[in-house]
Amino acid sequence: MASVELDKVTKQFSDGTVAIKDASFTIADGEFFILVGPSGCGKSTLLHMIVGLEETSSGEIRVNGQMINHLDPKDRNMALVFQSYALYPHMSVRENIAFPLIMAKVSKPEIIRRVEETAAILELSLLLDSKPRILSGGQRQRVAIGRAIVRNPEVFLLDEPLSNLDARLRNQMRIELARLHKRLGTTTLYVTHDQTEAMTLGDRLAILNKGVIQQIGTPFELYQQPCNLFVAGFMGSPAMNFFPARIKDDQLCFEPLGLQTAIPGHTDFSKPLDYVIVGIRPEDFYVLSNENDRSEQLIAFDAQVDRVEWLGAELLVYIRLKIDFWPDMSILVRDVGLEKKQGDMLEVIARLDATSTIVKKGDTVTLGFNIDKLHLFDPNTGDRLI
Ligand code: ATP
Repeated sequence: MASVELDKVTKQFSDGTVAIKDASFTIADGEFFILVGPSGCGKSTLLHMIVGLEETSSGEIRVNGQMINHLDPKDRNMALVFQSYALYPHMSVRENIAFPLIMAKVSKPEIIRRVEETAAILELSLLLDSKPRILSGGQRQRVAIGRAIVRNPEVFLLDEPLSNLDARLRNQMRIELARLHKRLGTTTLYVTHDQTEAMTLGDRLAILNKGVIQQIGTPFELYQQPCNLFVAGFMGSPAMNFFPARIKDDQLCFEPLGLQTAIPGHTDFSKPLDYVIVGIRPEDFYVLSNENDRSEQLIAFDAQVDRVEWLGAELLVYIRLKIDFWPDMSILVRDVGLEKKQGDMLEVIARLDATSTIVKKGDTVTLGFNIDKLHLFDPNTGDRLI
């Protein structure tokens, strides 16, 4: 068993690209740890440094407290599963799974025993004599995982292992991976760009953007208390709604949303601001049906429904608001891809319970949200203010 520790790990390629900057985190023994971030943020580079396929430019990687930076990949006792599976097409499933044991010169009877045991765990026993080409995507992925776990590695690394599968199979494999981890208890680092996969699989996640770790925590912590705009926008689907709010006489104001309320008391202002960026998750809106629904905590506003998407148990209700205040917030463009100017329309998404809400395009609805559900961010740095 093993813990993996990264201490200020940096990778600068020879062309000057800094793919990873000062990454520090510890994966506890037996933990399922997820590295998540958009394409090109440096996930594979970080994984390759841990497994030894890429040298670090600076910083230390330690396993159980021992520095491993200079160890050869084969001496690291780690197994990596690639997105592309990388199975040998001319070999049977049995031979593919046995391959790392043959390379490690394990005895024949031991190879037979371990391959059969691995195949049983992954429900591949009946396919042991088949060639990869006749297998489905999910079965091929299981063979690739089998080839990794047969060695009994201390650390298991998976690089976007489900991205070549269709949605149904991806869900199924996600459950199987969680079950497998529970059974084997191997320290696992799982890399993905898919925030749903990250939230459902991981004990803890590290969110990476442009080579820099943004936040580390449980899925719940990252969702409830995103430390900055990037994390807030990345976690959650549909994404959090963002808009600016003026600060006037200790009040937060944003007319199109009826927002005029005292600044939440625990807001952390290190310097005075004229306005802040407000975030509100789609599920934090309600439809108000009568005056009695209103309370002091609730902000309410009328809006015309522009579009409705029915998802079975939920409705996504899209409204469009005319923006009368939109200062220059290039950080919104940079971190969440939202580019607006004064006079534009702002689309806001509310996620409502379909069983108790009847709303259709063109309706005028009164939407409400609780002020304690607001997320506030610094418009200069993107950092969370509450
Ligand atoms: P994806 O999800 O698309 O696979 P990623 O998050 O795994 O992306 P990396 O492949 O680690 O990202 O790449 C991180 C950055 O480093 C990118 O800007 C990439 O162009 C750059 N990069 C990767 N390999 C090299 C290399 N050998 N030389 C120079 N730059 C590189």
